Parts: sequence; structure tokens; C-alpha cells
Amino acid sequence: MPKSITDIREICLKYEIPVEQIKTFWEELEDGRLVTSKCSDCDNVMFPPQSYCQNCLSKDIKWIGLEGEAVVKGFTHICVLPTTFSGEEPYTIVVAEFKKHPGVRAFAWLEGIDKEDVEVGMDVKLTPKQREEGPPYYVYKPV
Ligand SMILES: [Zn+2]
Repeated sequence: MPKSITDIREICLKYEIPVEQIKTFWEELEDGRLVTSKCSDCDNVMFPPQSYCQNCLSKDIKWIGLEGEAVVKGFTHICVLPTTFSGEEPYTIVVAEFKKHPGVRAFAWLEGIDKEDVEVGMDVKLTPKQREEGPPYYVYKPV
């Protein structure tokens, strides 16, 4: 059987994400508040926020406060870090569903808990977080 030959090459991918229509989300996050988009036509709540409804395609979108209480639906521990996070410790990422918005889920890092204690079904809260430099972001914390 022939030995397989592998050629590994590094690529650099840079892209620009148009955020003007969801600028409110970032401004509120910077002030420590979570908001998201809700369709005025069909009441579809979306996270992350969208500039048009993913359900009915309406562009009549309004902002609503997002209460971050959620239930963990799945998680994984990242022990082999991607290059962009090489300066971090191993971490856990979680998908959780918002209690006030059934069916709406967010994906984020989970902080403040040992990885052995993470469970599907546990309560967490999506929480705004500031960086010393760069845009704000959000993490889950156990409740
Ligand atoms: Zn809609």
C-alpha cells in the first residue's frame, strides 16, 4: 500500500463583517446590556441579532432586552487550542437555550466553573464582558 503524502500549508483568511445594522447590539454590550433582535411581523426572536427575520424575511426588526438566563444543551472542553487562542488556558464552550425565549440558543465560553462540574441541563447566565482592548463580548457563567 502506498504511503500517503500530506502537504500542509498555512492560509490567512481576513474578512469584514458588516455590523452597521446590528450596531445597537455592540453599543449596548459595551454598556453591559444584552439585547437582541425581534421581528415585528412574526415575533421571531433571533440570537445573535439579525438585520432581517430569518423566519419571514421581514426587515421590520426591533430591539428587545435579552435576559441571559439559559439552560445548557451541550458543551465541549477545548484542550488543544486553536492558534488564535494559544495564549489562553483550556476552556469550555457551551450551547444553551434562553429560558425566556424557548428555541433561541447562544454559543459562548463558560467561565467560573471547573470542567468536571459542567452538565447538560445546568443553569447558566449569558453575561456581557469587557476586554482591556477590543470589542466587548459575552460569556456564560453558572447561576
Ligand atoms: Zn418574521
